[in-house]
Amino acid sequence: MNERECYTILGVKKNDTDADIKKAYRDLAKRYHPDTNSDKEAAHKFAQISEAYRDIMDIRHNRQRHIINRILIRPKKNTAPPPKRGSDVRTNVDISFEESLRGCKKKVLFTRTKRCECGKDGVPDMSCIKCEGKGDYRQNRIMEVKIPAGVKNEQSLRIPGSGNSGEIGAENGDLVITVHVPKSTRYIVKDKDVYIKLSVTFPEAVMGATKTVRTIYGDTDCVIPPGTQSGTKICLDGKGICLNGSYGNEYVIINVVIPKLRDKSQLDILRKVYTEFYSKETRATVQVQKNI
Ligand SMILES: [Zn+2]
Repeated sequence: MNERECYTILGVKKNDTDADIKKAYRDLAKRYHPDTNSDKEAAHKFAQISEAYRDIMDIRHNRQRHIINRILIRPKKNTAPPPKRGSDVRTNVDISFEESLRGCKKKVLFTRTKRCECGKDGVPDMSCIKCEGKGDYRQNRIMEVKIPAGVKNEQSLRIPGSGNSGEIGAENGDLVITVHVPKSTRYIVKDKDVYIKLSVTFPEAVMGATKTVRTIYGDTDCVIPPGTQSGTKICLDGKGICLNGSYGNEYVIINVVIPKLRDKSQLDILRKVYTEFYSKETRATVQVQKNI
């Protein structure tokens, strides 16, 4: 017996409720029950009604079970948003200009939230004194960070995973360190090379000298050869910035300081020097000022 026949036999519709169908069945069963109905067809009709009712109920319940199974078996659509990553923590560090050129290690202090080892998830609970059940706590940290050579003022360094803790199952944020570098009047930087000015006296330039000069790695000796002209560049090998594993140079730019005459005796000395060092032709073109 197909479904439509069953409904026809019971005189019900497909969208009637189970209760409606049961009622229709009972009414018909009562009417056609062989005990109360002596009609020849009654027994056959009663059997038909009973079969129809049973089939309808089977079909309906099977369908219901099928729907339930489909709901249960169907993979749940994951509508929950993924756990949120922790936010970044920002901090600052001050370094000297020389440190910015040679690279350095600095200790930075910062505060971040850290996921608690107790594994609690945010319900207040005093059994963990560290987080009180919140699942995370504030932590002050000192971290030594490597600041690379050649870092510029206001440049930021990012240390992944050292920021605030995220939700359970999510990554921590980053630590973002902004580096502050003061300006320098001492050094001029061109790529990996560093330039520095060095004032020498007139006799030092003439006779040669060994002077102490500053480099980004500390003080060092700089040999000024005899007869060095103003503007001469003396190379200090490997004293520049280390980038990608190779060092630049420091260039010492010589500035010969010309003294001012203070009195007549100095002028006499200088005249003597002049006579000794320069030819008659050169001297003839120069007039020494008379007012000294
Ligand atoms: Zn805890």
